[in-house]
Amino acid sequence: MDIVVLGGGLAGLSASLAFARSGHDATLLERDPPPEAFEPDEVFESWDRRGIAHFRQPHNFLGLARDVLLEQAPDLLEAVVELGTHWSGTSSWSSTPGRSQSSA
Ligand SMILES: Cc1cc2nc3c(=O)[nH]c(=O)nc-3n(C[C@H](O)[C@H](O)[C@H](O)COP(=O)(O)OP(=O)(O)OC[C@H]3O[C@@H](n4cnc5c(N)ncnc54)[C@H](O)[C@@H]3O)c2cc1C
Repeated sequence: MDIVVLGGGLAGLSASLAFARSGHDATLLERDPPPEAFEPDEVFESWDRRGIAHFRQPHNFLGLARDVLLEQAPDLLEAVVELGTHWSGTSSWSSTPGRSQSSA
């Protein structure tokens, strides 16, 4: 199935990922321009992400999001960690009791 997703926030990115990995042809349309830099700190400083008003705030993947990524897209979670994301190291952040990673 051909699917168009509007908006590249967390919802749109997640939906696009899930559709694409289920074998659908997903196209994601985002109003903001892509970043000109690649290094996370540079992206944070320079990316003009007007569509997300709270873009320059620290963010956490909460327990459920982290569990879903671990189940459905561990490679993506690994890539995010390689870019400088840190595990909280506390089991209370996992939505599944006993299901947490203390370091990466
Ligand atoms: C201050 C603050 C801190 C937060 N911290 C956390 C946190 O730590 N952890 C957490 O899990 N959640 C956090 N949240 C909540 C989280 O950010 C939101 O739940 C999440 O951003 C919602 O994602 P979304 O994809 O639905 O929408 P958005 O993130 O708002 O994304 C919408 C996207 O659609 C694009 N768009 C809009 N109109 C169009 C159009 N016409 N055509 C194309 N693209 C369009 C926008 O540019 C944007 O990229 C925080 C929220 C705030 C306000």
